[in-house]
Amino acid sequence: MRGLMQDWPLLIPKVIDYAAAEHGGRAVVSRSVEGPMHRTTYREVRERALRVAKRLDRDGIRVGDRVATLAWNTWRHLETWYGIAGIGAVYHTVNPRLFEDQIVYIMNHAEDRVLFLDLTFVPLVEKLAGRLPTVERYIVLTDAAHMPRTTLPNAVPYEDWLAEADADFRWADVDENAAAGLCYTSGTTGEPKGVLYSHRSNVLHATMTVMPDCFGLSARDTVMPVVPLFHANSWSLAFAAPMAGAGLVMPGPKLDGASVYDILTSERVTFTAAVPTIWFALLQHMEKEGGALPDLTRVAIGGSACPPAVIEAFEKKYDVPVLHAWGMTEMSPVGSICGIKPEVQTEDYEKLLGVKATQGYTPFGVEWKITDDDGVALPHDGRTFGRLKVRGAAVARRYFKREDEEILDEEGYFDTGDVATIDADGYMRITDRSKDVIKSGGEWISSIELENLAVGHPDVAEAAVIGIAHPKWDERPLLIVVPKAGREPGRDELLEFLRPRIAKWWMPDDVVLVPDIPHTATGKILKTALRERFKDYRLPTAV
Ligand code: AMP
Repeated sequence: MRGLMQDWPLLIPKVIDYAAAEHGGRAVVSRSVEGPMHRTTYREVRERALRVAKRLDRDGIRVGDRVATLAWNTWRHLETWYGIAGIGAVYHTVNPRLFEDQIVYIMNHAEDRVLFLDLTFVPLVEKLAGRLPTVERYIVLTDAAHMPRTTLPNAVPYEDWLAEADADFRWADVDENAAAGLCYTSGTTGEPKGVLYSHRSNVLHATMTVMPDCFGLSARDTVMPVVPLFHANSWSLAFAAPMAGAGLVMPGPKLDGASVYDILTSERVTFTAAVPTIWFALLQHMEKEGGALPDLTRVAIGGSACPPAVIEAFEKKYDVPVLHAWGMTEMSPVGSICGIKPEVQTEDYEKLLGVKATQGYTPFGVEWKITDDDGVALPHDGRTFGRLKVRGAAVARRYFKREDEEILDEEGYFDTGDVATIDADGYMRITDRSKDVIKSGGEWISSIELENLAVGHPDVAEAAVIGIAHPKWDERPLLIVVPKAGREPGRDELLEFLRPRIAKWWMPDDVVLVPDIPHTATGKILKTALRERFKDYRLPTAV
């Protein structure tokens, strides 16, 4: 017997319809690519998204077509998302930090028909356009006054293009399981793989992130996604904030410490989210220049492990609680978040910090397990580590155009490629990417844990640990450190700092200071490049 309730498909346009109806006047503030701040509302964003949809329709874009965006977080980028999804087409976010060949690869693979791009990327795309045969039209996200002279075929300023349509349009009536968004994983090896989100998965995922022990968004929040829309849906915030009726602040292209501080404080942001490197830069800026974050009530940090020193700095110095989150493009992306269950609540801050440094537990909508290499489930005892596998309402089932490739185990779980422990209270701790874990004498050393500890040293700005070949132990850890400006910590001093904090056999065999560490397109330490750079490195212990 079927239930007798209404069929109300979970479609992305419903989110902006709701925001416009119930929170229509709420501010959407952006730092524009042209420079000045720009202010609009959910009501206007919806109205312009309807015009985007109508105008795309006139350009012949149909249900299921891919429409790409190469853009910073601004109101215009937001409008294009809702407009594209609103005619049943698929927004494909292109990450500008990918290598040029990868951008060409993913756009051809996706067969993008239109590209919306920011002014910043016009020179880049001019170089690539000859290799993008499927793109029929380039729409530059600016007005006529700022439109540069360009060799891009069929290029037009967004505002002129948009002015040719009114908002008298009905959102496409598509199935909630229809494709709505496409994001390629920035894998460090092999070709990028396309994760194809549906309307339903995005709406359910956003609903899940709004919940109190997740991001806990409300109509009284002002939300700033520093995490880009092109990084796994900006962790859902472009959907979750309007769904909650929260105001939105879009930081545009300026993501350095000073600019982030400036917009956080001037726009009185209450909730923000980004990868650790953004927060390293903000904290360094505040250390140097001073300042306070009186309006910020929490900060979500994820995408890479958040060192306890960063959590402590936010919480103790600036009184801003940290929410450590874990996830991946294939999970839309949120997989877990470190809320505090009553079981682990304590007055002892050191103990609480130990919990907060974990990647937390799953929200409703995600299930997980850890297994050994044969797929046998391992205990949740906080000590045994295994492959972390997930399933849920917003987890990938297949990759785009690789539908014949099975990526789930027989119970329907997806292997995240992460190695983790889960404790009795449900808190998960990522040990490493399975390919980054250091194998020393048959035992595993967590590079993440060593990195987390090293950045706790007052002279260290960033740290990476990689395994270096060793004749006796197979591999031993090498600590690579970027010192803070004007500091030069000694090798022995750094090792002495680690000594009381780790098991003896985890001690790095050597330390090198470097001016910078390479990052992936989504801000993670690029271990493959470091391994390549140090492939001939001889450890002093390798005799
Ligand atoms: P991406 O799909 O580019 O977002 O990358 C996903 C990967 O980032 C995960 O599989 C993890 O290896 C890593 N990651 C994300 N969040 C965290 C976190 N909080 N701690 C450690 N690693 C993380």
